[in-house]
Amino acid sequence: MHVLKFGGSSLATPESIKRIAEILKDRSENDQLLVVLSAFGGITNELIRAGEEAAQGLASYRSITQQIRDRHQQAVLELIPSPATDAIMNEVKLMLSELEETCYGVYLLRELSLKTKDDLVSYGERLSTKIICNHLKFIGVDTLELDSRKNILTDDEYTCAKVNREVTSKNIAAWKGKAQCLVAQGFIGSTQDGNTTTLGRGGSDYSAALYAEGLGAVQFEKWTDVHGMMTSDPRIVKTAKPISTMSYWEAMELCHFGAKIIYPPTIHPLIEKNIALVIKNTFYPEVSGTVISAESSNDNGPVKGLSSIGGMSLVTLSGSGMIGIPGFSRRLFTALSYNKISVALITQASSEHTITVGIEDPLLTDALKVLNEEFEYDLERGTLDAIQTESGLAIIALVGDQMRHHTGIAGKAFHTLGRNGVNIRAIAQGSSERNISIVIEAPDVGKSLSALHEAFFDEEIRRVNVFAVGVGNVGGELLNQIQSQQSSLLNDRNIDVRVVGISNSKNILTDPNGIDLNQWKEALSSSEVPTSPENIQQTIIGMKLRNSVMVDNTASESISATYKHLLSRSISVAASNKIAASGSIEDYKTLKKLALTYSAPFLYETNVGAGLPIIDTLQNIVSSGDQVVSIQAILSGSLNFIFNVFHENCTFKSVVQEAMKQGFTEPDPRIDLSGVDVQRKILILAREAGLELEMSDIENVPFLGEESMKGSVEDFLNALDGEENRMQERWAEASAKVHRLKYMAKFEDGKASVGLHSVAADHPFYSISGSDNIVALTTKRYAQPLIIQGAGAGAAVTAMGVFANIIQLANRR
Ligand code: ADP
Ligand code: ASP
Ligand code: MG
Repeated sequence: MHVLKFGGSSLATPESIKRIAEILKDRSENDQLLVVLSAFGGITNELIRAGEEAAQGLASYRSITQQIRDRHQQAVLELIPSPATDAIMNEVKLMLSELEETCYGVYLLRELSLKTKDDLVSYGERLSTKIICNHLKFIGVDTLELDSRKNILTDDEYTCAKVNREVTSKNIAAWKGKAQCLVAQGFIGSTQDGNTTTLGRGGSDYSAALYAEGLGAVQFEKWTDVHGMMTSDPRIVKTAKPISTMSYWEAMELCHFGAKIIYPPTIHPLIEKNIALVIKNTFYPEVSGTVISAESSNDNGPVKGLSSIGGMSLVTLSGSGMIGIPGFSRRLFTALSYNKISVALITQASSEHTITVGIEDPLLTDALKVLNEEFEYDLERGTLDAIQTESGLAIIALVGDQMRHHTGIAGKAFHTLGRNGVNIRAIAQGSSERNISIVIEAPDVGKSLSALHEAFFDEEIRRVNVFAVGVGNVGGELLNQIQSQQSSLLNDRNIDVRVVGISNSKNILTDPNGIDLNQWKEALSSSEVPTSPENIQQTIIGMKLRNSVMVDNTASESISATYKHLLSRSISVAASNKIAASGSIEDYKTLKKLALTYSAPFLYETNVGAGLPIIDTLQNIVSSGDQVVSIQAILSGSLNFIFNVFHENCTFKSVVQEAMKQGFTEPDPRIDLSGVDVQRKILILAREAGLELEMSDIENVPFLGEESMKGSVEDFLNALDGEENRMQERWAEASAKVHRLKYMAKFEDGKASVGLHSVAADHPFYSISGSDNIVALTTKRYAQPLIIQGAGAGAAVTAMGVFANIIQLANRR
């Protein structure tokens, strides 16, 4: 004897009903079945809507009842062929007319009592069962339709009636063996007086458990639209996977904490009678599904699943008068339960100074009233502080029987949430250690569940969500590199680099599931979200994705001004833009501090030497306790290129233009030629070496006249004609000594400077060619300088450096 329940999600169309009927036909040949049916998918909601609109006096309820009529009549036409069609159609029409009359009554009276509401929604199950039963008969199944209102006896708490299980069980037992396939409506029952009741939304699961109990079934199969109970709600966490086995208690914890797949009261009769619950997918019957029984297993780690419930409030009672005085909690819980306010979560610090309970948002006003009355005297005397409340919260729960045998689970969960900027408002762990409940703000639920899911279930895949700002030379190249590496990173290294946002100076494009990098240009230009630093900031924060990073490949000050805010929301920053790291020391220190506090790295390796590992090396040297004695460096790829190419037979201006053309200079070449760019870089290195310097502390001896630096980029290029002689003289002077011109940065004894020097043939910088950079670090341990040398400018190597920072973020734990 098996009990099978098909939910609304399996009964959405006549095709799916035909599929189910085939399954039942097959199964009923060798086994007696009892089938519990929900209303056709969506019908319960529609009936409620019709009732509510009618109660508000809106004639529009009629279009809803008309749709309900059409759907059922259509189902009869498709499922019951003639000659039976007419007879069944008449029965169905009669029921439809009754339900329309009920709505009309509600419309006239402008009142929808809970009793009437139950009567109205019961038509959903009654209609579906009538039609499906007759379809089963038609395909040759020995079928008998039962009326659940005659079997399931309840009290008169309409819309969530309590079942008298003893009587119900006896009623049901009487049907055993009366047909190969007994079919009954889920969800509905009736009072002693014969009034129709319902068992609560989703209650068909419970009906099926009651039938299983009454018939002494060994197994109850719930057929639905997913592959089983999943590690998390698949609508929220895309990587959720089916759980093959779990215990009743795990299932109970998960569904009590929001996993909608099972209606919570369902589990109780199953535990008592040791009936296994198997969850199967109607659309993939070959998939084994989930088996829920008394056995607990450890097959996919100590945490079995995650769930969440929104719409929660916290109510906190605190005050010095509570310490050591017994009875406060008893009074609190008694007052709440007396008023039917159920408590979802309790936390109390061991100081007994505060006690916090979680209740559903709609009950908050009542709860506050009840407690203010209960504690009126204590509040007046000041032994209790004013009762505090907070709403708009959610509880997320980690569930698993095996959690108690493991340490570090709570730590890992809190670390994961903290790293993703989720503020934890309260925590509770039952002494069974089967459930850790964490109260957070409701909008953080999606991000939290995804982050926890990744930490506990998809450890093999590490994702970083990239929001790329700036798509010029470097930014565009970065997107190319990500696009070409994305699949091999995922396949070979389990790293998922997902670009969830792209912004140029005009538009912002987002897709939390990852932008298709084959066509981001078209999508970005047709996006209608305008770019502004505030919009970028709000969009990234609003996406609420875990492990996310803003990648700044602009040269914009206003973008760098968003870092503080982003870091303090646990969003990392990876920047080739060097404005922030070379800004005021105060800002620099703040950014470093925020990055630490909110576990959101601020990475800017490409600020100096493009992709060369300069900052990283310096940080390692310093953190290992070594001390920087001096730094000598060629840090401008563009200036190095310019002075390598420039000679007596070409003009300085043409060389500058060539450097611009090859993308070696900043968009405004004066930033390079004035030495400001190198000044920023040596400032950053000096800071990494431990010195608190400002830009103004760095000596800069210019090689071009001040006048040439004014006006537009074009004015500047024209002004270079006037600099030609001076530059030729400097070249000739160096050349005469067999020296070369090199633009260098130096740092020693706490002082830094930048300027054009001529270096002799035996100097290690003499033969640095092209746009290369070189850094010579002399430290206490490296008396002979440590040399880092290589291409230090250009889009490809800079983008590569930023990419490396992104991978670093993906890999962090
Ligand atoms: P039925 O109509 O068959 O009773 P429900 O819609 O009530 O189906 O429940 C199935 C749905 O529950 C799934 O489609 C899924 O979206 C949702 N769900 C929520 N949490 C979970 C979970 N942990 N595992 C599986 N499904 C879940
Ligand atoms: N039809 C009812 C509902 O939608 C009962 C059920 O399907 O479980 O809530
Ligand atoms: Mg359901």
